[in-house]
Amino acid sequence: MSKAEISKMKQKPPLVPLGALIGRELRNEKVEKRTVKYGQTALAKKGEDYFLIKPDCQRVVDNQSTSFSVFAIFDGHNGISAAIFAKENLLKNVLSAIPEGLGGEEWLQALPRALVAGFVKTDIEFRQGGEKSGTTVTFVVIDGWTVTVASVGDSRCILDTQGGVVSLLTGNHRLEENAEERERVTASGGEVGRLNVGGNEVGPLRCWPGGLCLSRSIGDTDVGEFIVPVPHVKQVKLSSAGGRLIIASDSIWDALSSDQAAQSCRGLPADLAAKLVVKEALRSRGLKDDTTCLVVDIIPYDHPVLPPTPKKKHTLLNSLFFGKRSENSMNKGSSKLSAVGAVEELFEEGSAMLAERLGKDFPLNSNSGLFKCAICQVDQQPSDGLSVNSGPFFSPGSKPWEGPFLCATCRKKKDAMEGKRPSKPAITA
Ligand SMILES: [Zn+2]
Repeated sequence: MSKAEISKMKQKPPLVPLGALIGRELRNEKVEKRTVKYGQTALAKKGEDYFLIKPDCQRVVDNQSTSFSVFAIFDGHNGISAAIFAKENLLKNVLSAIPEGLGGEEWLQALPRALVAGFVKTDIEFRQGGEKSGTTVTFVVIDGWTVTVASVGDSRCILDTQGGVVSLLTGNHRLEENAEERERVTASGGEVGRLNVGGNEVGPLRCWPGGLCLSRSIGDTDVGEFIVPVPHVKQVKLSSAGGRLIIASDSIWDALSSDQAAQSCRGLPADLAAKLVVKEALRSRGLKDDTTCLVVDIIPYDHPVLPPTPKKKHTLLNSLFFGKRSENSMNKGSSKLSAVGAVEELFEEGSAMLAERLGKDFPLNSNSGLFKCAICQVDQQPSDGLSVNSGPFFSPGSKPWEGPFLCATCRKKKDAMEGKRPSKPAITA
């Protein structure tokens, strides 16, 4: 290579006029900015459904650029205490499991694991109070255009995008509809069967002891601990065209399919949309249970409402990109771009095994030399000998499974969930 060529290469690329740069910046800024509009409707039959609505949370106090939104519904059963406890404590417990100082992409990457820790911690704390009620949780975190949904139970969150594609962001933890979960419950010491009335099997599949139709929840102290609080977590990134979330309790979904719910309210603002979905569900089924619906529109800053979407049928394309996947399948690191350019799938994991959900690293507090429990975040002395496995602490190669590090209380919980110690329901059926 000649000297002339080298010096040519060292030259800076042609300068872009400042005006063009600023214009580009402004356009990008405009594209990136989004807002959320929401509306909720609840009709009570038993009064056991609760909302959590926090559109303006901030990772750093008084820093608008670190803002995120949280929306959740809690469908309680057997009383209201678990739903209320989860509503009041879950967000705090999730946030405390995200390492300090993370921002942007790192924060979002840490979120799925923190959701698992937060759900389990909330369940442990609730059970310590001795109440026996339980609750489903559908917990949605919106940061920029990224939507992360963690769920236990049979409430549902769907995403309706501008392409008219409707996708499911929650797992299904009804025993009747999830063979994988039936297997897990049975393997962990529970029994699955229908209610026996006068020699006849009636109703949906339930687990015993307890008689719950769900395989996962927070609470349910009177059911064996094979009913786990470990959430299904799915994380997607919307295009800057935005999308609509419909979060609703099971009584909506017993009456309407995801497509029907989405189509019933397209083009309407969020508050009217929530009313209409509930009305539509009642029309076909009547008010049989608490009926709760939360509609959240994630929209570009300069569009007050989502533009009406041409009504398209649930397409083959949709099945391809949001096709039914094994509930416990791994999907780490493989991000797929939907062909309609609407949604990028970032993360999905539904396993009930904490070993697969919490990672293997042992967070060490470099100041104190203490280890943090991966679930409750309490500092522990390494000398307490509380590694999840016996054997030398620092020889991961010699163990079948080396992490995460759990404190004694959380390790007991993990073993009980996996049927490795007798789970003791407070009240036997
Ligand atoms: Zn712990």
